Amino acid sequence: MSDYQKLAELLFPNITKTPKDYEAIYPQRKLPEGARVSRFAPSPTGYLHFGGLYAATAAKLNCVATKGTFLLRIEDTDKKREVEDGVSAIVEGLNYFGITPDEGVMGYDKESGSYGPYTQSKRVEIYQTFAKNLVAQGLAYPCFCSAGELDEIRTAQENEDIKGYYGSYAKCRDLSIDEIKANIEAGKTWTLRLKSPGSVDKKIIFDDMIKGKIEMPENVIDVVLLKTDGVPTYHFAHAVDDHLMHTTHVIRGDEWIASVPLHIQLFKVLGFKPVKYAHIAPIMKEDEGGKRKLSKRKDPEAAVSYYIEQGFPKESVSEYIFTILNSNFEDWRRANKDAELSAFPFNLKKMSVSGALFDMVKLCDVSKNVISTMKAEKVFELSYEWAKSYCPHLAALYEQDKGRATAILNIDRENKKPRKDIAKWSDIPDYISYMYDETFTPCYELNGNATPQLAVDVLEKYIDIVNLDDDKDTWFARMKDMCEPLGCTANVKEFKQNPEGYRGHVGDVSTIIRVALTGRTNTPDLYSITALLGESTVRARLNAALKYYKEEI
Ligand code: GLU
Repeated sequence: MSDYQKLAELLFPNITKTPKDYEAIYPQRKLPEGARVSRFAPSPTGYLHFGGLYAATAAKLNCVATKGTFLLRIEDTDKKREVEDGVSAIVEGLNYFGITPDEGVMGYDKESGSYGPYTQSKRVEIYQTFAKNLVAQGLAYPCFCSAGELDEIRTAQENEDIKGYYGSYAKCRDLSIDEIKANIEAGKTWTLRLKSPGSVDKKIIFDDMIKGKIEMPENVIDVVLLKTDGVPTYHFAHAVDDHLMHTTHVIRGDEWIASVPLHIQLFKVLGFKPVKYAHIAPIMKEDEGGKRKLSKRKDPEAAVSYYIEQGFPKESVSEYIFTILNSNFEDWRRANKDAELSAFPFNLKKMSVSGALFDMVKLCDVSKNVISTMKAEKVFELSYEWAKSYCPHLAALYEQDKGRATAILNIDRENKKPRKDIAKWSDIPDYISYMYDETFTPCYELNGNATPQLAVDVLEKYIDIVNLDDDKDTWFARMKDMCEPLGCTANVKEFKQNPEGYRGHVGDVSTIIRVALTGRTNTPDLYSITALLGESTVRARLNAALKYYKEEI
């Protein structure tokens, strides 16, 4: 037995398996040629950032197109970042937007798949097995330096280019087995460090699938692989997990780019085939003239839960994410209006290098479009589901008469040019407020040529003739017929040619009625609104408005 092997036994007496055993437990996946395996690997912080959903969508699409596997791994080795059940919000957020993993963590304490466990804290024995093997080959060593000693190194390196535990600073690199034994017997705690084979004057070049070719100095730092409690650092866990889970593409935030030389070195030292990397720039936001990262601290819309609470349909958010995922998506969408999103040929290489820009106005426009193409029943069902959790008051209005609610949502829908008023379900209470007496707030402000005097004349006449049994043409004909006796014209062109000759035109007449019935100057189809308000409400509102204008003049 070599000294290194003895050291490995000394440090890891309880580890009996070998890397080979794990290679056998996690064999090559049986996937079609060219299939990609990718993962989303968040820490269980109980918070899913919009950028996380964006990255997870890219990772999933990368797999779907090649009939590969997308997995969700929970990286909980940093106890400082962990919160109690920090997993559910992440899983639910992903599921809500259809980014369901094929395997991995499926919920709080729930996993599925043959390459697990998928929660790093449950894999400690695996990491230690690979660590032990590195020690046995002389590629890793225990470090007994105290926090104080490490601080001294930091201070000494203040003005140096390379910072960290390396070269002459790496005091524990060459301890003899007897020294190590003595330290352990003295009860000293240790971390396990990589014996980095890197050299200061060498560079590595790697091809990032989003950022292109990147050249960086080789890693020379003897980084910590296992902390004093035996739990791995992110770097070591990443290499072991992505190898054993047969990840082909690591798609992650570009804050990890600086660690790539270390990661490539780890893969080499461990004897693993390297993975392909794709580093995603953070989602940006326009702020006070400049751009900055979409921030968990400053921006409510950074949280995926925000979209759920506001009632953005998942279809809208997904559609929007596609517009910022790949620059050619909108052209594709114009050419493939009704196609499923899954038909879009997503390409990692077409992702933004500098950071996609988040734009709430654009999201709302996309969402209005998406919602405008939905059938009224769907709008009703989805918004009712949302309302039950987030807007009980809307749910209660709906429950008065679900058929009427659906009919209200159907006004100006399911036609060639549907209106685009609703961006999210939380817009609905205001959008339909005038359809319910409980939420109708009269506002008698007029516009155009409508004056309180004209309003009095129009309303007096309309109250006489309004008939809720009219069909649309008859209703409109009545409106037009009212014009002439009131000194208005049914013909807007005529009015424009001779504005002095008339008190107003048919548009002004209908505005007066619209304002009386809805409190607004702009609404969807007034005929449908009138029909759905019903006889008694229509009469009551017309009379109330008439009374108001009479007092005005
Ligand atoms: N757990 C890491 C993080 O939350 C994931 C990085 C990776 O995807 O490899 O940033």
